[in-house]
Amino acid sequence: MINVNDGQCGRCLHFGEHNADDTIVQIRVNGEAPEDYVNDCGHPAHEGLHLKVSANGMCDGYMAA
Ligand code: SF4
Repeated sequence: MINVNDGQCGRCLHFGEHNADDTIVQIRVNGEAPEDYVNDCGHPAHEGLHLKVSANGMCDGYMAA
């Protein structure tokens, strides 16, 4: 498991924005994510690119979930 902190994808509104699942809920509650877990970034600037990000990624488009 990896730690996920504020400012990182796992706690971002756009992480899995259009593809939410139970794992995202657990990441936000527990602050931990499976090392191999990725999901779509739904930020409008990335959406057309179908960018997949890890829960411990980050960018300037972060918005707290
Ligand atoms: S890449 Fe940026 S906008 Fe997308 S989920 Fe991660 S922090 Fe949020």
